[in-house]
Amino acid sequence: MAEQIPVNDLRRHARVSEKEVSASVGRVLGSGRYVLGEECEFFEKEFAEFCGTAHCVGVANGTDAIELGLRALGAGPGGRVATVANAGPYTTTALTALGARPVFVDVDHETRLMDLAHLKQVLDEHVLDAVVVTHLYGLLHDMETVLDLANRAGVPVLEDCAQAHGARRDGRRAGSFGAAASFSFFPTKNLGALGDGGAVVTGSAEVAERVRRLRQYGWEPKYRVATAGGRNSRLDEVQAAVLRARLPLLDGWNRRRREIAARYSREIRGARVTCPPVYGEEFAAHLYVVVSDDREALRAHLARASILTDVHYPVADHRQAVPGRAGDRDVPVALPVTDALTASVLTLPCFPELTDEEVTRVISAVGAW
Ligand SMILES: *Cc1c(COP(=O)(O)O)cnc(C)c1O
Repeated sequence: MAEQIPVNDLRRHARVSEKEVSASVGRVLGSGRYVLGEECEFFEKEFAEFCGTAHCVGVANGTDAIELGLRALGAGPGGRVATVANAGPYTTTALTALGARPVFVDVDHETRLMDLAHLKQVLDEHVLDAVVVTHLYGLLHDMETVLDLANRAGVPVLEDCAQAHGARRDGRRAGSFGAAASFSFFPTKNLGALGDGGAVVTGSAEVAERVRRLRQYGWEPKYRVATAGGRNSRLDEVQAAVLRARLPLLDGWNRRRREIAARYSREIRGARVTCPPVYGEEFAAHLYVVVSDDREALRAHLARASILTDVHYPVADHRQAVPGRAGDRDVPVALPVTDALTASVLTLPCFPELTDEEVTRVISAVGAW
């Protein structure tokens, strides 16, 4: 039996930065400061610089980053926010916490990103507090067109960059286009911590200051509640120090991810599998996702070859049947492309430490189906 190829392997990933990360954790241990200290401050500066934004505010996770970012942009109870339904339940979860409702926009079949003709229609038909654009699987959306449409309607855009750390087009990074952007540093992300973490980046000092208050009970200064809707959502010092140690390695990791993705796209031969095109730096290759007319059979075939796969995501947001939640959304919505993709997407192994031999094995196994 051939050695198993995982979809992702965080043990291999940890080994690559083990020395830097251990030193960072040791530094925090000795510092006597474990939440919102120097490491967080330095990370915020370094990550803002990396993204090309003026401000970064560390928070507890990526879902909180969406929620607090949207709140800082003026979204709130009773409001409506346009978003996609094929990107995991994160934005919808954040909207539920805000008391706002999603207005789902269908996606484009090739890019799997928000369909801009449909967005235009949604902007015409609804009064929206914001638009959340998810750079799904790591592919930077056409932000120029998104912003053109949203600006005309006077609606702010939040970029969800939880899968797109470092993706760039014409020198501009994911997160530097919208009024604000959210990041997750969950361990599996392109830039991952040793636990939960997140951040909001923005060019606006006001938005940054609002998030800064919201992440800590609405305080300004300490113990005085100056902003409503605040709570506890802080990035701790250990995570910030780990992220500082790993940030300089991110572009190299993304390059390797892209190289693997490009090999898959060029070399996978199979009439019943559709691969994404070969992308440039606008793709951070967080996930390599193919489309197949019989996903379950392909999955089983690869499993027999000891190649593990996953499905991102098996249930679209507008199809989630959550007990007790019937009244919090506008139904029904027709999202035909979202539904078709949900039934056919399959994620192949793609992470920086995947070896060339493993990539070759995946290519042959998919080709043999
Ligand atoms: C991971 C992820 C999030 C949420 O991040 P958490 O830190 O797990 O809360 C949000 N959006 C997308 C697209 C993600 O992949």
